[in-house]
Parts: sequence; C-alpha cells; structure tokens
Amino acid sequence: MAGNMNHTIVIGAGQAGLAAAAQLRNRGVECEILEAADSPGNSWRSRWDSLRLFTPAQHCSLPGATFPAAPGAKPGKDQVADYLAAYAADMPMTTGVAVEGVRRGSGGFTLDTSAGTFEARSVVVATGATSVPFVPGIAERLDPAIHQLHSSNYRNAAALPPGGVLVVGAGTSGIEIAVELSRTRQVWLAGRVPFHVPDALLDHAGGLYWQFIHRVLTRSTPMGRKVAGGFTAHGGPLISVSMEDARKAGVRALPRLEEVDGSGRPMFDGQALQGADTVLWATGFKAQYGWIEGLPLDSRGWPVTTRGVVESVPGLYFVGMPFQYGLTSSLLGGVGRDAAHVAGHIAAAEMARDSALGLNH
Ligand SMILES: Cc1cc2nc3c(=O)[nH]c(=O)nc-3n(C[C@H](O)[C@H](O)[C@H](O)COP(=O)(O)OP(=O)(O)OC[C@H]3O[C@@H](n4cnc5c(N)ncnc54)[C@H](O)[C@@H]3O)c2cc1C
Repeated sequence: MAGNMNHTIVIGAGQAGLAAAAQLRNRGVECEILEAADSPGNSWRSRWDSLRLFTPAQHCSLPGATFPAAPGAKPGKDQVADYLAAYAADMPMTTGVAVEGVRRGSGGFTLDTSAGTFEARSVVVATGATSVPFVPGIAERLDPAIHQLHSSNYRNAAALPPGGVLVVGAGTSGIEIAVELSRTRQVWLAGRVPFHVPDALLDHAGGLYWQFIHRVLTRSTPMGRKVAGGFTAHGGPLISVSMEDARKAGVRALPRLEEVDGSGRPMFDGQALQGADTVLWATGFKAQYGWIEGLPLDSRGWPVTTRGVVESVPGLYFVGMPFQYGLTSSLLGGVGRDAAHVAGHIAAAEMARDSALGLNH
C-alpha cells in the first residue's frame, strides 16, 4: 500500500507474471504480485471447456518446475491452471486487485488499483496479450437478432442458442471451435487461413521444431525479425489443427467477412449468408495500454521494449508480450527466458542503486 515502497510489483499472475516472480526470487529481489482475478492462472480456467494445449507437455514448463504430464501429452486447460496455481503457492501475491493506472513518481511508480494505491521502484507488466478481445467494427452493422460472442467468451456448444454459427477468424481458436460446433449444428468458417505447421514435422521432429522456433525465430536473427512482423500483425501459424480438419468435419470455408447486407446479414461474394443465427468472433485480441503513463507504443498499440525493458521509462518492464523476444515469448515453454532477462535487469538495477547508497549485499 501507499507509503510502503515495494522493490518490484508484478501485475498479473498468469504464466508470465509467475515466471517473472520466480526469476526475481532466484536473484534475491523482493516482489509482490497483484492479480485482478481471484486466483492465479485464471485466464486458462476461463477458456472453453474442451481446450487442450497445442504444445506438448515437455515444452510447457516454467522455470524450476517440470510440467506434470508425460512427454507428448497435450494437457487440458484446467491442468494448466492447476499447474500455475501450484507454481504460485508460496509466492507473495494479492488477488482480487485490478491495477487501473501506473504513474511515475519520485523514485519509482505509483499504482492506482481497485484496492488503493501501491508504490514500487520497478513494475513488471504481465497482464497478457489476450486480455482485451478484438471485434471488428462490422460487428455493429449485423442484425441485432444475430447472437454475437467473442471466442474468449465461448465455453461449449450447449451454451449457444440453437441454429447455425458463422465463426469469423480461421486461426487455431477459430478452427478448433468450428470443428467442435460442427458436431451439433451447421457451421461456416470465414477468414484467411494462416500457414499450417505439418503434423508430420511435429510428430517426427518435434524437439527440433521447438529448438527452431525457440532459438532461431528470435529478434536476434534476420529470419526471426522477418517472422516477428507477420506474427504480431496476423498471429501465429496453425499448429495441431488445419483447415483440412474443419472441411472433414463439414465446416464450410468462406473468405474474409467484409460486407453486410441492408438487413444486417453477413455477405460473401455479394450474397447474404442465410442460417447463421450466431456469429462467433475468433478475431484475436488487441493492445490496450493507455493506463500506463509515458509508455511508448508501436503502430498497433503494443509496448515498445527491448526484450521487455522499456528503455525510455527506467524501472518499467514487460513479460509475455507477443514476440517480445522470440516466437515462444508468449508460450508456456518460452516465457521463462524473457522473465530471466527482465529479472536480471531489475536485479542489476537494484545492485547499482544499493552500491550508490553505500548499502552492502
Ligand atoms: C485459446 C488459446 C490457446 C492457447 N494454447 C497455448 C498452448 O497450447 N501452449 C502455449 O504455450 N500457449 C498457449 N496459448 C498462449 C499463452 O500461453 C496464453 O495466452 C497464456 O495465458 C499467456 O499467459 P500470460 O501470463 O502472458 O497472460 P494471462 O494468462 O492472460 O495472464 C494475465 C493475468 O493478468 C491479470 N490481469 C490483467 N490485467 C490486469 C490488471 N490491470 N491488474 C491486475 N491483474 C491483471 C489477468 O487476470 C491474468 O490472470 C494459448 C492462448 C489461447 C488464447
């Protein structure tokens, strides 16, 4: 609380915030985690019921704690939430506190929260890249009789009103949800289909593939920098699911949704689509960082950092951003590397400060 200056406050208790806290602890830096939800790992718990990881268990471990599942297993989303809750068990954390603003103050930062103000010398923002759903503006022109929801609010087929569903967005989430819905109703899937990583590649060279996306596709390599642009603009490649799976399940593929007719029906190739009583937006997430004072943003609204370090605001850090350092930065098995880098930076700054004040370590 105000008046009591923390070394470091970590905002968010998903995998990124927990990895950051673990790496800070390893370096002897005190921190406190503030989490808006009632429990750590809540974003996993609130995803749709049937969701399983597309990354195999051996590539899902956070620093110092092997994911408790056999290599090759694709754990369910609640197993991930349980793993994160166990990981967080002895961490200094206050849940049910939403950070509403971060301001620069004398010697650090003031955080305005739902539970009053907190102060810290350093702040690690780990609020996730999937906190704020993106729905395109065309949604407002649809007939109000059409039920609409974003993929982040989808739980299972039974929770939707009866009738056909148009899923907009053909990334991994869109395809998985379309295949699930197609078991009980008519489904259309609209959108540009991303590159699909061949299943054979993952089955026979999964370890090598992981090494490639983790070690080669980073901001330190020309290939990684090239991939980074497409990744942050269009999302990652399809892994484990493909458009072929959707077609086999009876899902009808459509191009991007760009038009609506006079009565608010979605149109494709000049024709209104009949029978879509629900539109499910699997259109990803957007950046929203206006609550952090002085934060430099790129053209898409994401924070400008060097491997998570905000150079122009000393003491401000990020972990878990899309392609923060590499393609795996926002994945369970990749976030630990970024957390270590940021924690190392904070520890060095603390050390320099203590030396300047004549404090011994
Ligand atoms: C459908 C889907 C499937 C995925 N599958 C995989 C997979 O198979 N393998 C894999 O490695 N990755 C997968 N990911 C990607 C990634 O691992 C997850 O998105 C993961 O949840 C990101 O972790 P995070 O800690 O960065 O963010 P989050 O898990 O979103 O955690 C952020 C936390 O911050 C809290 N928070 C947000 N704002 C505030 C605030 N202002 N104040 C306080 N607290 C706040 C939230 O409540 C939340 O608990 C998937 C993502 C999605 C969406």
